[in-house]
Amino acid sequence: MKVGVFHGFVAMDGDGPSHGSPFELGAIIASQDPFAADTVAVELVRLDAWKVPYLRLAWEREYIGNIEVVGDKMEDFVEARKSFRIPAGMKRNSITRWLKVGRRYLTAVPYIDPGKCRKCGVCAKSCSPGAISFAPGVIPSVDLSKCIRCYCCNELCPHNAVTLERGLLARMAGRILER
Ligand code: SF4
Ligand code: SF4
Repeated sequence: MKVGVFHGFVAMDGDGPSHGSPFELGAIIASQDPFAADTVAVELVRLDAWKVPYLRLAWEREYIGNIEVVGDKMEDFVEARKSFRIPAGMKRNSITRWLKVGRRYLTAVPYIDPGKCRKCGVCAKSCSPGAISFAPGVIPSVDLSKCIRCYCCNELCPHNAVTLERGLLARMAGRILER
């Protein structure tokens, strides 16, 4: 029998894996079904599992059935869940799904902060579609028409120089909602 174990005594919140923070969750999740374990882990930190693309696909393909949680109850983690910080990219992209307009103008886009960039080129190496141009000694530039919004550059920049900025339409919608 194979069992997957999810170690969450100390989890990570915020913009992991590079820019997140250790987070005391105090949970261990074990299951023979990896989709069930991931679904429970996601719900445990108050994210909507339906918004996680691969879990949504798994549901649509009926890889996930009824999930029974045994042991501690989800409510036992309510205090930990209150302070869990959702990844910035996920928060920003929720507005995208709501509006259902072109992804290109709505989803968060990577922005390289020239004041923090050390011109090391790690971001360009991590960019699988080749959307980041890099030459030694020059701050890289991002071609948003090639960017697939995977945010690997944000996760892997060792100097925290890549931030995620809201897309054009999301910024406009945000301003309207803030009024
Ligand atoms: S990884 Fe970060 S510091 Fe290095 S070139 Fe890219 S943005 Fe600049
Ligand atoms: S988000 Fe992904 S595709 Fe876009 S520039 Fe960064 S690494 Fe490349």
